[in-house]
Parts: sequence; C-alpha cells; structure tokens
Amino acid sequence: MSGKVWFVGAGPGDPDLLTVKGVRLLESAGAILYAGSLVDRAATYYAPAGCAIRDSRDMTLEEIVAWLIDAAHKHDNIVRLQTGDPGLYGALVEMTRPLDDQGIAWGVVPGVSSAFASAAAAGESLTLPEVTQTVILTRVAGRTPMPPGEDLEALAAHRCTLCIFLSITLLHEVQKALRTAGWPEDAPIVVVQKASWPGEEKIVRGTLANIKSLCQEQKIASQAMIIASPALGARDWETIARSKLYDPAFTHRFRRASSA
Ligand code: SAH
Repeated sequence: MSGKVWFVGAGPGDPDLLTVKGVRLLESAGAILYAGSLVDRAATYYAPAGCAIRDSRDMTLEEIVAWLIDAAHKHDNIVRLQTGDPGLYGALVEMTRPLDDQGIAWGVVPGVSSAFASAAAAGESLTLPEVTQTVILTRVAGRTPMPPGEDLEALAAHRCTLCIFLSITLLHEVQKALRTAGWPEDAPIVVVQKASWPGEEKIVRGTLANIKSLCQEQKIASQAMIIASPALGARDWETIARSKLYDPAFTHRFRRASSA
C-alpha cells in the first residue's frame, strides 16, 4: 500500500493565503516537495518535525515524479506544493499520469491564484456590470507556443479582462497584441509583482502606451501579473452601472424588490 499524493495550491506567496485544507495536509505530511522560492515559507511554516522537505527548483519532471513515487512508498501523506492554483500552468497532468500508471492515489487542493491576489492587491474588480463580465487567464507564447486561436491579439478582441501570466519579459508582445486588437493607447494596465508577499509587493499602474517603461523603471522582470481590463480604475469613475444583485428594484432568490 502506498500513500496519497496531494497537489496543494500554496496561494500567491503570503502563507496566510493557504487554504485551511492545505495547511492541514502540510501539518500531516511525511514529505513535501515545493515548487521554488515562491512557496518555501509556507512549506517550512507548517511542516511537522521530521518531515522530508525538498525544493524542486533544480529537478526535471522525471526526477519530480520519481521523488513523489518514492515518497508515496514511505509515507501516508505527501504534498506537492505549488504556487497559486495547481490547475494553472502547473504541469499537473504531467505529474498525475505517471502516478496513475503506478496505481498511486492523488488529489488536488485548489489555491488562490496570483490572478486574484493581484486584483486584490490593486483593489480592482475583474468584472464590472455593463463594462466586462468575462475574465481570460492567458499568457503570450514564450518557449511554450500558443495553440491555434489563442494568440493574445485574438483574445484581446473580446475587450474583456485579461490576466496575463508568465509574460512580464514579453511586455512588448502584449503591447503589440493589444494595439492590433484596437485597444487605445490610454487603455489602463496594472502590473503586480509578488502579489501578497509581505513587504515585497509592487504595483505599477499605467497605460498601454507607458506600461513597459514604467515596469523597466521599477525593475520588474519576473513574478509579475499583467492585468489589462476596461474595468480598471473604476473606483475613480464619476458613474458606474449598478450591480443588479443589490438593486432595490430587482427581485432575486433571497430578496424581493422593494419598489415592486
Ligand atoms: N499556478 C500559478 C501560476 C504559475 S505560472 C497561479 O495560479 O498563480 C507563474 C506565473 O504566475 C508568473 O510568471 C506570474 O505571472 C504569476 N505569479 C505567480 N505568483 C505571483 C505573485 N505572487 N504575484 C504576481 N504574479 C504571480
């Protein structure tokens, strides 16, 4: 009988943003394999005495899988701790398929994605009534090519909120795509680096025209989320459309319209 491997979302960096379930699993883990510097604090905060802890930063996928399989033969609970949510750019399926082949049980605990932590840090809403009701989580092609139809310029044509991961060094590509899709030069863009990291978070507010130079001035070249959205800055607008949910004239499941 082997133990169970848990893929746990560590959240964006602040250990307080781990889920209660994630913490419980870390506290009972016989072995923890964590993904790089972003989540090492969480691993060391909550791991029990005697737990085998290893950073996977210098490991290949094959080595990671071999480590997890070996740990599953020695311990009941094994945690693979990943940044944000494990289902976003987390190589999850590449790790679970070999576990399935070995008959090793696994489960996933979702985490707070950096997309949400970045919006929270900037005090922005990703959706706004009558402005945008859609969020696209994406990236631009780096060494990983984009599948057909998913080029940023095609996605940007929707004029909705775009949370762009893994692309801070490719800001010129982001600018080019948004321009081709017809976004104006004064379209607001927010970049958040190390969202939620105590004392290390940086927020840069700019426009399509100047966001790249602002990020260069702030020396932001890694661990950053790019949010482009027509909803940015709405807290300072003169008027916004009301949410129907809280509209006195709107009846829903939990409340009758007061003007009816
Ligand atoms: N699974 C993770 C994403 C991993 S891909 C999640 O759900 O957040 C790594 C990319 O995530 C980085 O290039 C950056 O774009 C983003 N990222 C991760 N942590 C971040 C943080 N604390 N602040 C801003 N962006 C972050």
